[in-house]
Amino acid sequence: MKILVINAGSSSLKYQLIDMETEQLMAKGLCERIGIDGHLKHSPLVGGKPVFDEDISLPTHSEAIAAVIEKLTSAEYGVVASMKEIDAVGHRVVHGGEKFASSVLINDEVMAALEECTPFAPLHNPANITGINACKAVMGDVPMVAVFDTAFHQTMPGKAFMYAIPYEYYKNDGIRRYGFHGTSHRYVSSRCAELMGKPIEELKIISCHMGNGSSIAAINGGKCVDTSMGFTPLVGLPMGTRCGDLDNGVVQFLMNKYGYSIDEMLNILNKKSGVLGVSGVSSDFRDLDKAADEGNERAALALDMFHYWVAKVAGSYVAAMNGVDAIVFTAGVGENSKSTRAAICEYFGYLGVKVDEAANSKRGEDVMISTPDSPVKVFVIPTNEELVIARDTRDIVG
Ligand code: ADP
Repeated sequence: MKILVINAGSSSLKYQLIDMETEQLMAKGLCERIGIDGHLKHSPLVGGKPVFDEDISLPTHSEAIAAVIEKLTSAEYGVVASMKEIDAVGHRVVHGGEKFASSVLINDEVMAALEECTPFAPLHNPANITGINACKAVMGDVPMVAVFDTAFHQTMPGKAFMYAIPYEYYKNDGIRRYGFHGTSHRYVSSRCAELMGKPIEELKIISCHMGNGSSIAAINGGKCVDTSMGFTPLVGLPMGTRCGDLDNGVVQFLMNKYGYSIDEMLNILNKKSGVLGVSGVSSDFRDLDKAADEGNERAALALDMFHYWVAKVAGSYVAAMNGVDAIVFTAGVGENSKSTRAAICEYFGYLGVKVDEAANSKRGEDVMISTPDSPVKVFVIPTNEELVIARDTRDIVG
């Protein structure tokens, strides 16, 4: 069975074609500047075909999907003989609200429910819906599955997902903690259990997804019991450009003092804050490491804040689960920055964590970076959200 995985944004569309017999990645690519002009980078990964990387006209997502199918099946760049070889499509969808606690076969009823979730993710869900509709237009009746960023967190108990505001805002308006990066937290926690050789039902895992956006999840017995992102992905840890947790009074103070509109204020909190805002240097941890090494104090402060917040939130999850067996680092920063991992692990002395420096220097593979005698194990596990989407699609369609 061959599955096409689609992650549609407002002006971009990422894809992977995966052969589920072997879970081999056959091709991957990215359409960019959809609706503006258009660019497609298509990389075939089997059959020794060349990469296609050119500007092409992409007025809408339908043209983008058509271009992807054309490349996947072409004599020059293709990896399959025809579209008929693609058995199903798995779509990443950001927000499934409380309606979707797991992945689902897409039909008219599901499409209507996705529309209902749109107010919760006004930038992301419409793009995901557009991607699904474009696929339908180009690929006809091929079965399609929606896999949600929020679904894994739906097991959180009320005490973790409720906000302490009047209850009617939850009941009438759905205001609560939803959490994001669920597909990543699910993948790395289940992989962690495999690496430990233990059933996930017996493990308490803290998963730290640290990329441009960062979130931490507490996973007890394979079920998410708490996570740091909330109603939106703006809260929790300080991130590349997002502020993380912030006293609401600050918003009122700054809006009054500087006359910001709510959109201007949210733009500052989403795009100009986080480690970028504190350092004034960059949102990229590579730039921050370099600047801090060269003596830039604000870059060092931004990094210190990030490490402290990861340790503080993870520590609160040790309390929430009454213990922890394993801590996992993943995503761009978690997978690549050994200095960030080492600095965070310094805080885990109370758990008896000791870092094996040689293991912590490895890159691009699943690795245990704690010493064998550490009672709490620490892992680096490269995330693979596309594989989870493909597996769910296979299981639901198959
Ligand atoms: P996204 O949240 O956009 O999916 P990623 O998970 O790809 O992001 O993470 C991107 C971030 O990873 C970059 O902004 C950068 O800060 C960080 N990163 C990538 N490589 C390294 C590295 N070698 N050292 C430190 N940070 C890195």
